[in-house]
Amino acid sequence: MPEVSDDCLFCRIVAGEIPATVVYGNESVIAFRDIQPQAPVHVLVIPRAHHPNAAAIGEADPAVAGAILAAAGAVAKAEGLADDGYRVIFNTGPNALQTVFHVHAHVLGGGPLGPMLA
Ligand code: 5GP
Ligand code: ZN
Repeated sequence: MPEVSDDCLFCRIVAGEIPATVVYGNESVIAFRDIQPQAPVHVLVIPRAHHPNAAAIGEADPAVAGAILAAAGAVAKAEGLADDGYRVIFNTGPNALQTVFHVHAHVLGGGPLGPMLA
């Protein structure tokens, strides 16, 4: 899997070619607000390197997969979600309606989220 892909929207956000509201970043991941928020707080956490989905990065680079979870927790804390709770979701493949094939964790919160499959 290439480190970056010209065809990949999220690689282009990492490269600064497409603007995004970045709320967190370190050497391995960045987090930015979703363009179509599905909750009062909706942030996407992605690795800087290109991997298509959670299974792929879990196999290829478990350390960075862990860094995504650590960043999701840091974002949740910074956004004031830690006490009341939030979701971290990795959509994978067509049944989950994955639309961007650069792995991303959705961090959703800021109010009641309802049943998971609603
Ligand atoms: P998926 O359906 O693949 O799990 O989620 C992709 C997410 O990326 C969607 O929630 C969608 O709103 C978000 N998204 C798509 N294009 C852009 C964009 O250009 N900028 C930002 N910030 N989010 C995007
Ligand atoms: Zn990519």
